[in-house]
Amino acid sequence: MPDPHARPAAFLDRDGVINADHGYVANWDDFEFMPGAEDALRELKSLGFCLVIVTNQSGVGRGYYSETDVDKLHQTLIAHCAAMGVEIAGIYYCPHHPSEAKGDYLQLCECRKPAPGMLLTASKELNIDLDVSIMVGDKPSDMEAAQRAGVGKRFQVTQGSADADVIAVASLLEAVDYLRG
Ligand SMILES: [Mg+2]
Ligand SMILES: [Zn+2]
Repeated sequence: MPDPHARPAAFLDRDGVINADHGYVANWDDFEFMPGAEDALRELKSLGFCLVIVTNQSGVGRGYYSETDVDKLHQTLIAHCAAMGVEIAGIYYCPHHPSEAKGDYLQLCECRKPAPGMLLTASKELNIDLDVSIMVGDKPSDMEAAQRAGVGKRFQVTQGSADADVIAVASLLEAVDYLRG
């Protein structure tokens, strides 16, 4: 039975969508919001989406930074958004890599996008209706993860074109404009 109380989520990739992708961003000083991203988060929230960030952070597995660093950055981001009235329901990240990570992080996991694990876990934990949810990412792996999870609508932030059933947008804010119609 579908849960009548399940809610729509906006699954958001982090690097290249919410913040500029400088490569392995691990602290707040290097966290630079993309133009319009904060407004877009506010708008998505007001449209009734539960905001969920899903991000590959193989920098952990590669030994560039620790899970503690990532957690600290994400707590700061959550607090920053809360201060502007925007609740982030959850941030899920994958610290693994199938070939480049060290120790226990070296694994072919279920969470690294394009696998759908983070979205599926979030949908269970946060009671999300995937069918009415959206994904905004900047890589084909984001789109594939969302498709495999059964997310209803997919947006790719790109300067180029996207796959046939993916909506190409220039920014997160443009995805919001599209949703507003
Ligand atoms: Mg990205
Ligand atoms: Zn993983």
